[in-house]
Amino acid sequence: MINANMLTELNRQVNAELWSGYLYLSMSYDMDNKGYEGIASWFAAQAAEEFEHATRFMKFIGEMDGKVNLMPIEEVRQEWNSPKDAFEDALMHEKVVTGKIYKLMDMAIEQKDYATQSMLKWFVDEQVEEEETPRRILEKLKKIENHPAALLALDKQLGKREDD
Ligand code: MG
Repeated sequence: MINANMLTELNRQVNAELWSGYLYLSMSYDMDNKGYEGIASWFAAQAAEEFEHATRFMKFIGEMDGKVNLMPIEEVRQEWNSPKDAFEDALMHEKVVTGKIYKLMDMAIEQKDYATQSMLKWFVDEQVEEEETPRRILEKLKKIENHPAALLALDKQLGKREDD
């Protein structure tokens, strides 16, 4: 059985991952509206990954004989000024998520909850990539922000998700 406080925090993380999915979906549709179809599809794939993260936490809660508690999902931002603005927000968001994962790990270590530590290890590794990818895209966007042709070429490339 899982400790009650740990269970509460894991359920909060389910909500946070679902919220991340909402955020990236919102970015996806906003970028699509602004004519960046490739970036829109990149964010849609990112949203799907976040829903997988939520599923991973829910599956673990079930395996530990805990109860999944699906809470309301808060509203997300609807508009970004540019692809650069969206990726800046995405990177900032992923840093917040990394902090949440580390807090969960701290708690699992404190409670000598080895099963939760083992499950969280995957997320610790995943967050390295989750921060690296938007950071690299952002570096490119900063270089080309005033060059529409280059921006459209990057949009096309991101649509294929070649960075993965
Ligand atoms: Mg996530």
